[in-house]
Formats: sequence, structure tokens, C-alpha cells
Amino acid sequence: MFIPKRIIFEKDVFQYSIANEIRKMFETRNDIEIIYLSSNRYKQHIPGEDLYTQFREGKRTLVVDTKKSLKFQSCKPSAHYQLPLVTGCMGQCEYCYLNTNLGDKPFVRVHVNLEDILNQTQKYISEKIPEITIFEGAATSDPVPVEPYTNLLKRTIEFFGEQEYGRFRFVTKYNDVDNLLNIPHNEHTEVRFSINTPNIIQQYEKGTASFEKRIEASIKMMEAGYPIGYLIAPVFIYQNWKDEYRQLLHLMSEKLSTSVKFPITFEIISHRYTSIAKSRILEVFPESTLPMENEERMYKYGQFGYGKYVYKKEDISEIKSFFTEEIEKMQIHSEIKYII
Ligand code: SF4
Repeated sequence: MFIPKRIIFEKDVFQYSIANEIRKMFETRNDIEIIYLSSNRYKQHIPGEDLYTQFREGKRTLVVDTKKSLKFQSCKPSAHYQLPLVTGCMGQCEYCYLNTNLGDKPFVRVHVNLEDILNQTQKYISEKIPEITIFEGAATSDPVPVEPYTNLLKRTIEFFGEQEYGRFRFVTKYNDVDNLLNIPHNEHTEVRFSINTPNIIQQYEKGTASFEKRIEASIKMMEAGYPIGYLIAPVFIYQNWKDEYRQLLHLMSEKLSTSVKFPITFEIISHRYTSIAKSRILEVFPESTLPMENEERMYKYGQFGYGKYVYKKEDISEIKSFFTEEIEKMQIHSEIKYII
């Protein structure tokens, strides 16, 4: 669970129950600074003269605000729309796309006007009937660490439980899922857990839940009847990578039930980076040992008009055949969605 160092309440948020819940939960703690804004300008309340400090202070800041624009961004290829519940994440994963996307605003923002957001969601669903419209809840955040005191996912999952033509999905590296277990989800929400080898988690995913905790949470969700998937990402090629990923899959196969209603999905994404991301990462994590040697990679133009450094063709083929074979060996009801 995310326990912030400071909480900034935007003005006018206390007309929403979630803002009051958050205040009630934290206002008596004297280790948390609470700031009530009289305008909506919060950046000046986050200390730090340089990006390095601003990033660290920002990551420990919770901003409670409302979602002003209700025009949802598209979210191809994993869903039709992003569902804006939370922005930002407490984690400090060195390779995280948010480091580039959120720039100098790395703080966690929870949008408390959930009713407006869900009303808008309903409109998008209605426009496409009889097609099913899919919404992604983790496009710009990991919404799980703030769930124990926001209940944003819980209420959203319940909303989708009642939607014949709407589906919800989100991905997480955390385990705060207990309030999601006994709710009427109607199998309309798919939860994916992002996992990696303990070695990678320890080196590059600071501030996230351990591998064991993520697996434990995924099993709880599976037992609660949710369709579940695993994102193995990013996959790195390093000394012993095959042994460590094999061990990870082996541990999972020991814990996962062989009789599940839905196939357990796997999405496998090898490590990649853009030039902008690389310079950003090195600014925020100057000691980073992330493998980002351009000459060891292949430059590939992406569908969004900018290029990325990806592993070379022969490495990608090796990753593909390795994971295909190893997942097959797990002998569970599974489906590999893609390996890239
Ligand atoms: S947990 Fe996910 S969203 Fe959060 S920092 Fe890590 S990669 Fe980024």
C-alpha cells in the first residue's frame, strides 16, 4: 500500500466521498504532511531544485484531484480506451515508461470524481453496442497500491460487472487486492500481474511487491473467479537468464491450479528503450546498470512514428522459442498472447 510522505488535496475535492475517506485515513498521522490547496497549482508544494530530487519527492506525493477532461485517450492495441482513475505510481522501476511520459510530474494522482468518469465510460460503451468496448485501467499508472483507501478499482469492477457490452482490464506489480476478492465482478474484469525474476525485481523494480507477493495475489484473484494473466516484462538477456526465467515458471507451475475456468494468459515483452527514455533514465537513476548499449541492439521504427532499440533478431527468436517451450512444460491451461 502506498503511504505517501505528503498529500495534496486540490480545492473542491471534499464534495466527493473518496477525498473524505483519504483525509480520514491519514489526517491524524503526524508523519504525513497534509496540504489543502486554495488553487489547483500543486507543483510548488513538491520540494526539489533538480530533477533527481523532484523525482524522489514526487514519487512520495499523493495528489487528490478530479479528472477534468472526460475525453478518454485511445489505448491500442490492448484496449479501446484508457480509463483514467489514477495517474502515476509509487514504484521506482528504472525502465518504467512513466519516467518519460509523466516527465517532471511523477506523483500519484487519484481522480475522485469517479461517478463522472463512470458516466462517461457508460457513454462510450453505449456508442459501440452491440460491440464490446474494452477499457484499460493501468495505462498511466499502477492503480493497486492506492486501492485500500480509494476503492476506485472495487467500484469500477462492480460497475463493469453490470455491463453487458463493457470490459475492464488492468495490470499491476502489487498485491493490495483484498478488497477486490468478494465483489460481483461477473468475470468482466481481467487482471494481469507483471512479473520478473527476483534478480531483476531487486535490481530494477525498487518499491514494488516481491515476486512471491505478486504470485500470491494473483492466486487469490484467480480463486475469486477473475480471468488472470501474467505479463513477463521486460525480459532481459543476461548471464543465467534462461535458468532464472525457467525457475520462475517452474515455481509458478507448482503454485497455480491446473483447473481454471479461463486460460491463464501470458504476454512476454523483451526489453526496449527509446533514446529519450535512455537519457531520462540516466538523469533520474545516474547509477543505473540497465543494459542500454545501442550497439548491442537493433533500431526499429514503431507504429507510433518513433524508433526503439530492441534486442537483435536472433535474440528475439531465442526468447520466443525459450518461453514457448517453457510455458508448454508448465502443463497449465494457458494461452500465450504474444512474445515480442
Ligand atoms: S510498478 Fe509499473 S507503473 Fe509503477 S514504476 Fe514500476 S513499471 Fe512503472
